Amino acid sequence: MRAFSCRVCQAPLVIENVECSVCMTPAGYSRLEGDMVPVVEGRYQDAGGARWFRCRNMELSGCNWLVSYAGEQCFSCGLTRTRPPDADLEGLALYPVAEGAKRHLIAELDRIGLPIVTRAEDPDEGLCFDLLSSVNEKIIMGHDHGAVTIDLAEGDDVIRVKMQREFREPFRTMLGHFRHEIGHYYEMLLVRGDELLTRTRDLFGDDTIDYQEAIERHYENGAPPGWDSSYISSYATMHPFEDFAESFAHFLHIRDAVDTANNFGLISDDDDGMKFGDLVRSTWIPLSTALNQINRSMGRRPLYPFRLPDPVIEKLDFVAELAAGARTHRR
Ligand SMILES: [Zn+2]
Ligand SMILES: [Zn+2]
Ligand SMILES: [Zn+2]
Repeated sequence: MRAFSCRVCQAPLVIENVECSVCMTPAGYSRLEGDMVPVVEGRYQDAGGARWFRCRNMELSGCNWLVSYAGEQCFSCGLTRTRPPDADLEGLALYPVAEGAKRHLIAELDRIGLPIVTRAEDPDEGLCFDLLSSVNEKIIMGHDHGAVTIDLAEGDDVIRVKMQREFREPFRTMLGHFRHEIGHYYEMLLVRGDELLTRTRDLFGDDTIDYQEAIERHYENGAPPGWDSSYISSYATMHPFEDFAESFAHFLHIRDAVDTANNFGLISDDDDGMKFGDLVRSTWIPLSTALNQINRSMGRRPLYPFRLPDPVIEKLDFVAELAAGARTHRR
């Protein structure tokens, strides 16, 4: 993520800000510029003279993105196919957490240059999100032909930590869920043609094995012994699709964290043209080791509690290469 700053007073901003905490100038996110911009009296005028307004969902979901017509919803909000109904107060209370994580994800995909095909563009496999509340029904998170389902209850820290313990995961975040599910979307979108399919199966395994049986086996027997010498997580051992999605999520975690560290001058920014696997070895492993120690210094759990053996780095390298090949050069 970029190191955003207020254009009025130069104070640091984060991507969720609706105003600068120092000079109180209202702020919003311009997808076109990939930057935080001042929104004075509900408007922003860009360098070309075009006027921008706030997304109409600012009150509903805390959305701070800009739109070109007053009263419209922004690109990120437009990807939401289902949200909790107005009567579901519990679901609506957690709704902004999920929308915030989604905006972060979309901004990051834009920054990497990954294509996003909407449902309007492709009614069968375009990307859309069903953000559902499990207050009254059981919600199973997942991806199906471009449609991502997220359980809003995971926006509640208590519920999420409970799930994390139940599944014995070292790490569980709302943004992580979005990154995992988008991994499934990109496998569907980008792994096309015999050559890519063969390479994908060589690395992640045969994806034609029965998914339901694989899930049942995983929940009955757990991950195979020694799994962490070739998988990023125990969940990744379940099925080749899950291994791909987990690897993609970690590519996004690492890409974003390294990008942020670069932008704050914590590491040198000479990784251009470097293979992702080499970046992981030369930069991310030492950086995450230090960050884990810093977290311990603050009495917290490690920031990135994962091992990255060579077979895992090879998978990360592959998904990064796939992402680079799909770059749209939107900006
Ligand atoms: Zn300011
Ligand atoms: Zn919006
Ligand atoms: Zn999955």
